[in-house]
Amino acid sequence: MAEKKGATAELCEVTSHFEEVRNRIDSICRKMHIDDGITAKLRYCKRELTVNFPVKMDNGTIRIFTGYQVEHNTDRGPGKGGIRYHPDVNLDETKALAAWMTLKCAVVNVPFGGSKGSVACNPKKMSINELERLTRRYASEISIIIGPESNIPAPDVGTNPQIMAWIMDTYSMNRGYSVLGVVTGKPLEIGGSKGRFGATGRGCAICSQLAAKHLGMSLDKATVAVQGFGNVGSTTAGLLSGYGSRIIAVSDSSGGIYNPKGLDIKNLLRHKKETGSVIGFKDGDNITNAELLGLECDILVPAALEGTLCAPNASSIKAKMIVEGANGPTTVEADRILSEKGTLVIPDILANAGGVVVSYFEWVQGTQSFFWCEDEVNSRLQEIMDNAFHEVLEVSQREKVSMRDAAYMLAIDRIARAIQIRGIFP
Ligand code: NAD
Repeated sequence: MAEKKGATAELCEVTSHFEEVRNRIDSICRKMHIDDGITAKLRYCKRELTVNFPVKMDNGTIRIFTGYQVEHNTDRGPGKGGIRYHPDVNLDETKALAAWMTLKCAVVNVPFGGSKGSVACNPKKMSINELERLTRRYASEISIIIGPESNIPAPDVGTNPQIMAWIMDTYSMNRGYSVLGVVTGKPLEIGGSKGRFGATGRGCAICSQLAAKHLGMSLDKATVAVQGFGNVGSTTAGLLSGYGSRIIAVSDSSGGIYNPKGLDIKNLLRHKKETGSVIGFKDGDNITNAELLGLECDILVPAALEGTLCAPNASSIKAKMIVEGANGPTTVEADRILSEKGTLVIPDILANAGGVVVSYFEWVQGTQSFFWCEDEVNSRLQEIMDNAFHEVLEVSQREKVSMRDAAYMLAIDRIARAIQIRGIFP
């Protein structure tokens, strides 16, 4: 096995993700001469709910968990955003994730606003029965602000279709009838959409294809490193590998695996399922997450958590292109460093929007009780991602700004127009 290259040192500390989003919103609004009142509206979350609730654990004890549900903005439609189960979640992070959802839905022009939910817990250390009780109680606690026309959750880190099914069932039991549209990312048996599970990764792969074409890079010769081998990262890796790219490294929270000749993604998924991690995979060398970020490669896909690429490691990134599978993986400072180096960054609010696009399809299908085949879902997703990518690219070239600033400009223009047309109540 060849020597692995490119170690990076420290990882990131971001004081407030919400402050970072606010600062970006402020600077784009200033650049676009957006009305101060509208800018102020985007600087705040519309509703922030914190819930502390008890769950009976399998050993008979009662534990108190803290959860959040935040609506950032609903001017273009119901709030939309995933629910995260992770020990480190907090209100600030949930607010940032809700604001990114508002912007993302506007970039791909689906009729939703932005919201997000989270519970501070470690789902990997809970039994299935404990997870079900936690989910049903959390769903009851937040039921005052979720609903098919108001605020529609979906899966995010640490949650999955089964958890969405429990939320849908809990909400429906309290209404007395089945409410399909209260969550998306549901199992197919209860109104899920074909193609939803892999939709975010598919959107990342589509953006990688479009960006590679823009750079004149041939994807079938490209080398790729993926940080975070969960839903988004593994789907992106699988699809890019199918397009002929060489996936030279992937990682998860335990560490990474590296093979300059390329990793077999199907075998790696099997290994992860059997052992719980990518490390120890027989056809590669173990590396750290910091080393993965600094590898010599064409495309880097951060698909884990926010704040991964920051000032201490941005200058050692050698990838020509970064496709942000995760939400908020790049800090403002890292963005500046990458831009100076000429790295093309496809921003999160565009690159990982495939999930919310197919969530929108799921919501539409549920409302009409009329379900589409997978080809139809995928081809409509392709069309929306293609349009959004080219709209962002057009703004970026016209205004001579980065793809991130262009995506923010496109989104803020759409949201500001919605606020202006609706007017301020009363
Ligand atoms: P997931 O829970 O399926 O996977 C997350 C992966 O990241 C896991 O493999 C985990 O081990 C790994 N990870 C966690 N901390 C890490 C670290 N420090 N270094 C390396 N790997 C680490 O979650 P997901 O749904 O794939 O979400 C990943 C990212 O994509 C998140 O930022 C999420 O908000 C974003 N996202 C998800 C969706 C979706 O549809 N699931 C949609 C849009 C954006």
